[in-house]
Formats: sequence, structure tokens, C-alpha cells
Amino acid sequence: MKIETKAVHAGDRKRIPGQPTPVTTPIVTASSFVHESTATLDRVMGNEEPGWSYSRYGNPTNAALEELLCELEGGAAGLACASGMMAIETAFMVALTDRPKRILAASALYGATTSMLAKIMEPLGTEVAFLDICDLPAVERKVAEWKPGCVILETISNPLLRVPAIDRIARMTRAAGAALVVDNTFATPLLVRPLELGANLVVHSLTKFLAGHGDVLGGAIIADAAHAETLRGVSRISGPVLGPFESYLTMRGVKTFVLRMERQCANARRVAQWLGANAAVARVHFPEDPAHPDAAIIARLLPAGLYGAIVTFELKDGGREEVFRFMDALRLVVRGTSMGDVHSLLLYPAMASHRDLSPKQRERQGIGDGLVRLCCGIEAAEDIIADLGQALENCFTSEIAVGPVVNRRPIVNRPE
Ligand code: PLP
Repeated sequence: MKIETKAVHAGDRKRIPGQPTPVTTPIVTASSFVHESTATLDRVMGNEEPGWSYSRYGNPTNAALEELLCELEGGAAGLACASGMMAIETAFMVALTDRPKRILAASALYGATTSMLAKIMEPLGTEVAFLDICDLPAVERKVAEWKPGCVILETISNPLLRVPAIDRIARMTRAAGAALVVDNTFATPLLVRPLELGANLVVHSLTKFLAGHGDVLGGAIIADAAHAETLRGVSRISGPVLGPFESYLTMRGVKTFVLRMERQCANARRVAQWLGANAAVARVHFPEDPAHPDAAIIARLLPAGLYGAIVTFELKDGGREEVFRFMDALRLVVRGTSMGDVHSLLLYPAMASHRDLSPKQRERQGIGDGLVRLCCGIEAAEDIIADLGQALENCFTSEIAVGPVVNRRPIVNRPE
């Protein structure tokens, strides 16, 4: 079945003996489960019989979401976690269980992932090395020589939207016996399914496009068959699990994620085009750009017309002060530290996602003080553009010619 259909149906309508089948998955809040006899509970706990015993080991609402995510990503096992970061940490544990404790990481990662590697994994004794994951000869050399246990990268990197050649890197990691972990949060399984390209573990911040409404914090790991058992084992012991209410909200969100994502991607294309013609904007980062450094890989890996919902841009001669003025002038686009919601969200990476990095680390990643990241929502593109236009006008003095404001319809006032 196609992803649109799976998103609506997978995981739902589990038969409950002697009861009508709920059309959508109910929220099961129980922490433990009673069985008709101790012998049955014994068999369930020993995995000799399907069933539930204790919600850290498995919960019907979480299991339905995990089945849904496995269907979307083409995985063998899934785990819904309390946050995206929890999913990433658990993925490292799964990847490194029986491998050398060495992680090779893309130098451009979500700030907290970089911090987790430097401030948690390294002090715990794991060796960590960063490199430009889009430099394939360098990756090939490093993987062959250093023999990492795990390589981590993002399908579309945060915030500069680089797109690594996952399929080629997967061949290198496979040959070296390393596990490839891919953070697919920005792309979602609508754009890219990393397991099909040879990755071993996919992680998501469910908080973003999959849940999609700004009301859930969650994460997920989806494993290939080789890592399914280890994922289940690690999860049973360390218990990084999501609460059933958040699982329910996420399933509800996922049903419409394809529709939302298509609209958000279409909005991003229009906004990127408009920003590119705006004199107050020095540079636009967007995967559709023919001059994008990874254009050939993008043409190979991303479906035509779907380049993600994020547009990152640099204000001309802009620093922290100009960015603050620009953000304060926004009336529709929400100033927020997230993305992937139905509403457009604008984030200042130097203040938020990459705040914990030193200015030098940010500079190395190309994250300047004038750089902002917009995630388009499902609103009318004209309204998003009009809001950006008026905010740019208000932010800069009249000496800077600001491009045409496409639409001057009144903007909905966002409650402060
Ligand atoms: N991965 C990416 C690419 C992210 O952007 C984020 C959060 O912004 C995370 C992981 C972490 O997710 P969470 O905030 O749900 O822990």
C-alpha cells in the first residue's frame, strides 16, 4: 500500500476478544495487566505468548503507534520514546551494544545531538569524531581506517539543509560492520525512507512533522531486522518509552501527515523563491536550489517537488540585533523553538537549536548570527510571505530596498 493509505490505517483496529473493535486505537493508561492465571502471565512475561504485562515492556497504545511507524519507514521493530533526544540516545545504545564504542558523527547535526555526543557519550568513554558527512572520500577513509561502531547523520541537516548520500554511506558502514543511524525528522518517510537505502536505525523527533500540531513531545526509533531484538531488549531495561496519551495524539497526527507535509513543502518552495528575490536577504538555503552543493544527490534521493518544509535564510548585514527586530515584527509566523507544526514557525538557531554550541562550533557549521530557520506551516503561502515581507520592512531602515510584498491582505493577529 502507498504511504498515504498506511498513514491512515496502520496500527489501528486490533481485535479484543469478546468486545467490539474500536475504530481508532484507544488510550490504555494501565501500567500493568492482569491475566486469567499466573501461568498465563508467566508465558506472557517469557514472550511465549503475546500479551501485555507491564507498560515499560509494551503497551497497546504505544504498540499501535510503533506498528504504524514501522509501516511508514519499512522497519522490523519500532519504539516510541519520550522525546527525540531519548530516541537518539537509545539508538546509540542499540548500535554500540556489540560494536566498538566509537561514533562517527556528521559535523552538521541538531545542536543537542552534537552536545549529547560531546557532553554525555564522550565522558562515558565512547570515542567521538565529527566530519563533513557530505565529503564522501573523507567519510570512506575515516570509516575504513577508524572502524566506528556507529555513524550518525541527518537526512536533511539542521539548519543548513545539506543532503548526504545515505545510500553510498550505508554501503561504506555495512562493509566496515558499523551501524548507520539516520535522523529522518526533517525529511519524514514521505520524502526519504533511510532503511530502504541501507541504514540500520532511523530516529525521529515525533514532536515535529509526524505529530504535527505542537502539542506532543515524543521520539521514535525504527530498526531493521538485524537490530530489532536488541532494540526490544534495550528498551525493556532502560524504559525510554512514550506515555500512551502522547502515543494517541501522535497517531492522530500521523493520519494527516502526508497531506500536511505536501502542503508545507509546497509553501516552502514559494517562500524560498520569494526570499531569493528579496534584497534584504543575503542568502537562501533550500534543497530545490540548482546551485545547492548536494543538487545531484537531492535529484536522486528526494521526490520531485518535495524538498522539505524548511527554508533557512540569512539577513543581509544582519546580526543578532536585526534578527531580534525581524522576529519581533512577525505577526503571523510564530517565534518558536520547534518546527513541523501546522503553523509556520521561525527559529533563530544561534539562540535556540544551536545555543549550546560555542561561537566557534557554530561558525564551523556555517551558522552565522544573521541566520534564521523558517518552517512553513499549512497556512496560505501568500499570508506567510506577506508576514515575512512586513517584518523585513519593519526590521531594516529604508536604505535597504525590500522586495515586493506579494500580498497585503490583513494578517491574522497572533495572540501574544
Ligand atoms: N532531531 C532533530 C533534527 C531535531 O530538530 C530535534 C529537535 O528539534 C531533535 C532531534 C530532538 O527532538 P526532541 O526535541 O523531540 O527531543
